[in-house]
Amino acid sequence: MASRKIQQIIDALPASDGAGVKLMRSLGSAQHLRVDPFLMLDAFSSDNPDDYLAGFPSHPHRGFETVTYLLEGHMLHEDHLGNRGDLKSGAVQWMTAGRGIIHSEMPQQENGRMRGFQLWINLPAKEKMKPAGYRDIQPAEIPEVALPGGGRVKVIAGVLELDGKETAGPVQGSSTQPLYLDVELPPNGEFVQKIKIENSAYLYPFEGSAAIDARVLRTHQGGVLGPGDSIEVRAGTDGVRFLLLAGRPLLEPIVQHGPFVMNTRAEIEQAIRDYQNGELTKTAA
Ligand code: FE
Repeated sequence: MASRKIQQIIDALPASDGAGVKLMRSLGSAQHLRVDPFLMLDAFSSDNPDDYLAGFPSHPHRGFETVTYLLEGHMLHEDHLGNRGDLKSGAVQWMTAGRGIIHSEMPQQENGRMRGFQLWINLPAKEKMKPAGYRDIQPAEIPEVALPGGGRVKVIAGVLELDGKETAGPVQGSSTQPLYLDVELPPNGEFVQKIKIENSAYLYPFEGSAAIDARVLRTHQGGVLGPGDSIEVRAGTDGVRFLLLAGRPLLEPIVQHGPFVMNTRAEIEQAIRDYQNGELTKTAA
């Protein structure tokens, strides 16, 4: 039993995406700042409508999954398949672009706070061209487990193991085996979790600070976790709220061009051509 230590700290950087939505980009702020299979992690949080109102108008994706977790706010998703998802506070949208999806993600509020995350999870080569899929996960479908020493865990994907009891999140069974937890700890609170030894793991505090072994992660400092089969987190004196992500690394080449993530340059060129010709979302004849 080895507890994982922090191998690398990634400072989230201010960025802008869509039609000018201001956000903090953690994973994906540079090509090498990825934790296989996770390609990108954006955190958005603002009380100023000018930072988010323009939203993410119609745009394509191919080759991976996008997961949007809304902490506060109201966002509408619409895609070419006719899916319409009304994301309210606490909801998750799990979108598998596969071969291609064209969608928009637009704020439905004109004031107030908009806060949440978008995570990009890669797909293995053999699944990059599968048909697009979409799941709207309501807050009530996300189990919330109280921790014995105070605090709580929301299980969005994968399985939480606590005192020998397993709690499964609504998303299971994908080939990258994602674990996606939203953990809140009181001041000096502790959280221990098993993580499969072969999977990579990333911890992102978005309120307060947390210590792993002797190293401290402050708000918006992501920690890439090293080898081991568990993680032990201790909250700072103000408590902490963090995302814990883990998944099976694909160990495949990555070629990314904006919203397309494939294995080779030729596949990217194909994706661009398909999008230009209106064939990104067409299933093979
Ligand atoms: Fe998108």
